[in-house]
Amino acid sequence: MKMISILGATGSIGTQTLDILREHPSDFKLVAISIGKNLNLARKIIAEFQPELVSVLDYQDFNTLKAEYPAISFTHGSEGLIEAAIHPKTEILVNAVLGSVGLEPTLQAIESRKIIAIANKETLVTAGHLVMEAAKNNGVSLLPVDSEHSAIFQCIQGEKEKNIERLILTASGGSFRERTRAELEGVTVKEALNHPNWSMGAKITIDSATMMNKGLEVIEAHWLFNLPYEKIDVLLHKESIIHSMVEFHDSSIIAQLGTPDMRVPIQYALSYPDRLPLGSANRLNLAQIGKLHFQEMDFERFRSLQFAYEAGKKGGTMPTVLNAANEVAVAAFLEEKIRFLQIEDLIEKALSAHQLIDNPSLSAIQEVDKETRQYVQSLLN
Ligand code: MG
Repeated sequence: MKMISILGATGSIGTQTLDILREHPSDFKLVAISIGKNLNLARKIIAEFQPELVSVLDYQDFNTLKAEYPAISFTHGSEGLIEAAIHPKTEILVNAVLGSVGLEPTLQAIESRKIIAIANKETLVTAGHLVMEAAKNNGVSLLPVDSEHSAIFQCIQGEKEKNIERLILTASGGSFRERTRAELEGVTVKEALNHPNWSMGAKITIDSATMMNKGLEVIEAHWLFNLPYEKIDVLLHKESIIHSMVEFHDSSIIAQLGTPDMRVPIQYALSYPDRLPLGSANRLNLAQIGKLHFQEMDFERFRSLQFAYEAGKKGGTMPTVLNAANEVAVAAFLEEKIRFLQIEDLIEKALSAHQLIDNPSLSAIQEVDKETRQYVQSLLN
């Protein structure tokens, strides 16, 4: 029986993680969760899984739930997030919160020697050097939950890092893959939220449409698999059947395939190095699919991907700026304050205004994150 903490339990990855726990009650036990603002779903999760500790975003909601469930411990805010991450009974932390708030709980959980199932991209994007070093120093495994990184992780089992020629991350192209750049001018929030293959949260669905999601994944892959950006490629593959591939020096390519279902990579991270059945997953029927399509990535059409490669190669605080500017810009788009293509403009401005700090400390990263948000906000006002 593995003891699990989930940060972001009511979100898309969180609820799908709970599906896995529900399917394997004798393999996993939920110990602690953090939730945002969805109290109704939180009540259902508490009733069903009886976690020992629940961390709530807001103080008021914390008081509300505390009064309702006297037998359960509650905590709140960013301290609460850390408490839920490092609960003494926890063995695996599933970090599925959105944004750079996920960073500190990850670092603390690494210090507490928890296995990290990492779904929070921003952790590695903004502080990959700190996270990987802490993981190494504490002998902690970081297990990818993202479908692409899980695919790569599965492809390199039993392989030596030195034999890898390059990684090939596949990209579905998001909700606007059939559109030219000119056709993106007037797109609405509703259109952008309509992802063809994956059902995900709002922010990541917009990131898929801008291709920033893939950009963040390239940076994440750089840290997770310890490879230079020159050895990480992106390939457009609209069916999302091949979840990513690894090419080796001898020209062999190993790919991981499956129907698009986030529960598969989530479960692999939880059951690793074992595999468990997943009865409710749709089996891949290649004969029925018949054809798979691939296309080279167009960096002018998807400028955010270009920004991500550039920020990643420059390193230091650049990826922090990339991520923070993107978060503010995407939120502004979702609130219909800016047009879709302005997301890229804001990111570009933030990147070019930034003075890079090499090898930044956690506090330097947090400071740059804050300053970038303020800067982009000032551009919006
Ligand atoms: Mg992904």
